[in-house]
Amino acid sequence: MASCLFCDIAAGEIPATQVHADEDFVAFRDIDPKAPTHVLVIPRRHVTGLDRLGDDDVDLVGRLLVTATRIASAEGLTGGYRFVINCGDDGGQTVHHLHLHILGGRAMKWPPG
Ligand code: AMP
Ligand code: ZN
Repeated sequence: MASCLFCDIAAGEIPATQVHADEDFVAFRDIDPKAPTHVLVIPRRHVTGLDRLGDDDVDLVGRLLVTATRIASAEGLTGGYRFVINCGDDGGQTVHHLHLHILGGRAMKWPPG
């Protein structure tokens, strides 16, 4: 596999400000935050994106969501938050390792750009 930025972050080979780590997931602050709180949650396993998930990944995705809600709570986002998963070029995905954005600390607009 070609080198992957988020695999390297999960392995601790590239520094990031981690806010959560467990057996399956790592969460760290986005280097270019789009909101006062902007955390990325990734599975340790390299999955390119949403469009590469299969039936065997249902449990992983469920736990990704639940883990993210717990991180949002730990971040003190009592007023609400937004989860975003970009997929592919039209979805605005720039890093091809599945990641969920937790955005919070300000009111979000709709629709997104
Ligand atoms: P996406 O556009 O959905 O693929 O999101 C990729 C995100 O990764 C962007 O919000 C970037 O700011 C963020 N990012 C890129 N490099 C790093 C890094 N080294 N550490 C933390 N976040 C990063
Ligand atoms: Zn990866």
